[in-house]
Amino acid sequence: MIHEIAPYVFHNEYKPRAPKPDDYIFIYGKNQVVLDCTDEKAPRAPTFADVERYNPKLTYLFRIDETAFFLLALKDLPAEGFTEADGYKPQPTFVFNMLQPRYMAFAGLTAAHIAGWYEKRHICGRCGATLVHSEVERKMDCPECHAEEFPQINPVVIVGVTDGDKLMLTRYANRPVTHFALIAGFAEIGESFEECVQREVREEVGLRVKNIRFYKSQPWAMSGSLLAGFYCDLDGDGTVTLQEDELSEGVWIPRGEIPVQDVGFALTAEMIERFRVGKENEPLN
Ligand SMILES: [Zn+2]
Repeated sequence: MIHEIAPYVFHNEYKPRAPKPDDYIFIYGKNQVVLDCTDEKAPRAPTFADVERYNPKLTYLFRIDETAFFLLALKDLPAEGFTEADGYKPQPTFVFNMLQPRYMAFAGLTAAHIAGWYEKRHICGRCGATLVHSEVERKMDCPECHAEEFPQINPVVIVGVTDGDKLMLTRYANRPVTHFALIAGFAEIGESFEECVQREVREEVGLRVKNIRFYKSQPWAMSGSLLAGFYCDLDGDGTVTLQEDELSEGVWIPRGEIPVQDVGFALTAEMIERFRVGKENEPLN
């Protein structure tokens, strides 16, 4: 999955340090990232060596091994040196999937998650004063009313509903993605993961479930989320009542007929594959 970057190690503790020449700089604003696209097939994030002469305003993000990653907000980008003539182009954040080495996809999307949060946290929501960066934690502080703003993570459940040898697979309505997915949804305030699993399954396909068991979690920066994957068993009648504004399809597929998909980056694909090969109840290593 995307966050599994071994042998590299992600260090997200907030311990800012001065940038070094080989550290990476993510230039981010309005859901876009500015990359060096001189080689269009291999876009790259600039390093501190590329931007140092402009004395840019940088925010420390995290490290992978000893390489640090810094944010340069698009609004603070120097006017010179970063135009299309210089090879730099704004790109949608899913371009990170193309970056090499592979851990750069995780680094880029995680940087975009944090950057998107910083971008929307300039003003105190309580008193309207300008927020300042905390020096000890990844948070923004209000110097007037002392409110604190921490990075926002939206919890989501991914649910593999099983009925013996069959798995409930879905397709989203109104989205270009056509491959199968699992039932999924954001947790609501006041709700446990287990209650969220029951509610999402009830809302999306009209089924009741039991024996809810946690499988694995995954940070998923594209929706600013932490995904929690669960398998559970059908409880009672398996007749599907589809929530048509959200799903175009919700079908029971026997294990032997589940199409083989590239597991790639996503927890959903891994959970479908794990059921396909009959290992959904085996303990993880
Ligand atoms: Zn305030």
